[in-house]
Amino acid sequence: MTTAIPKILVANRGEIALRVVRACRELGIASVAVHSTADADAMHVRMADESVCIGPPPAGQSYLSIPALISACEITGASAVHPGYGFLSENAQFAQVLEDHGLLFIGPRAEHIRVMGDKIAAKETMAGLGVPCVPGSDGGVADAAAAQRIAREIGYPVIVKAAAGGGGRGMKLARTADELDTAFAMARSEAKAAFGSDVVYLEKYLARPRHIEVQVFGDGQGHAVHLGERDCSLQRRHQKVWEEAPGPAIDAATRARIGAICADAVARIGYSGAGTIEFLYEDGAFYFIEMNTRLQVEHPVTEEVYGVDLVREQIRVASGAGLSFSQEELIPRGHAIEVRINAEQLPAFTPSPGLIETYHAPGGLGVRIDSALYEGYRVPPYYDSLIAKLIVRGADRDAALARLHRALAELIIDGIDTTAPLFDALLNEADIRAGRYDIHWLEAWLSRAGS
Ligand code: ADP
Repeated sequence: MTTAIPKILVANRGEIALRVVRACRELGIASVAVHSTADADAMHVRMADESVCIGPPPAGQSYLSIPALISACEITGASAVHPGYGFLSENAQFAQVLEDHGLLFIGPRAEHIRVMGDKIAAKETMAGLGVPCVPGSDGGVADAAAAQRIAREIGYPVIVKAAAGGGGRGMKLARTADELDTAFAMARSEAKAAFGSDVVYLEKYLARPRHIEVQVFGDGQGHAVHLGERDCSLQRRHQKVWEEAPGPAIDAATRARIGAICADAVARIGYSGAGTIEFLYEDGAFYFIEMNTRLQVEHPVTEEVYGVDLVREQIRVASGAGLSFSQEELIPRGHAIEVRINAEQLPAFTPSPGLIETYHAPGGLGVRIDSALYEGYRVPPYYDSLIAKLIVRGADRDAALARLHRALAELIIDGIDTTAPLFDALLNEADIRAGRYDIHWLEAWLSRAGS
């Protein structure tokens, strides 16, 4: 592949920064790592061609500092920026400022990030494009009285959600009219505190849905494809811990139907690059909840079953080269599962940063570890606790489960506590083995287990 991009700055850290550096190396593109003073010895810094220190440990003064990142581009001569996930990856202003400085943002256009970052605007846009949505208020809800009126129409239970929300914050459940006034007030104040906007909206609360998300890719010129779905229902506090592709509850006809709806929607808005359209799925029906305009943490399971490199494709599309695959060429094969290994102590999931004394990564057929760990590395206390993604692939789901069991037995991380033992325990559960779970399954199981 030829690309017009000679050097990419990776505006992130940890495993995802390393993931992008690896893609750059395979493409013959020079990479620039940025790091806070806490990350001077990090693996992404060691593996990149160049590195620049962009500030002190707090992310607000380093990984989230737009001026520091622009300066780093100027110092190193990088002409493009890959944002990874988290940090500035869904910040429309960042995409705009880069463009204003003549730098290429490897991601969608600022206007698409902006629309999808506002959940009300996103829902309106998607509904207008024929994507099925959760029944709810048309836009923001002005006051408690309006909330009561709308909730009566859609029926209880309802959930109050922040328009600017993310990470599961600012959401409140109301089972009855009596609970709604409090839920409404709490969601509003939480939204104001967390996101700086107290605009909230109402949705019908689905009792036992799965979380199914569709991977899409647009070329920015009106063409788009889908790469099937991931089932990310196993969540704790709205954070995904285990993801798989294909979804155990989704058959080929359903995949083709919802995939076509999603690809068509993003094609019609001229979307560019990778995106994920998230749904709740209950009783055979899909309900749109949000669109993420970036690469997801769990993108590797899609890569494994479709045999594609999504980061390479992002770079390719950003450079104007178009998509390297057509819908007909995208055929899923086998089954992949990802588990997120966090530096946390069970059973309470309390942070467990510190020195990695021993590290041994599993390997062999069908096993992939995306991690920036190494022996002697000190996991800093300042950032997200994700330290490794273990991804396994098998000919079918049972083979992937057996491989996960085998890979977990090979994994050694000593010196800190991790969530790896959780997955051994889950593999013993009949519901997990049968793929029979919804978004509440894990929380219920954890509370039975005393977490
Ligand atoms: P965030 O951006 O904060 O992650 P989402 O809208 O993606 O918010 O919702 C996060 C999670 O909250 C979902 O994966 C699901 O578990 C739950 N959730 C959201 N909306 C609903 C709903 N209408 N009914 C039931 N659960 C919901």
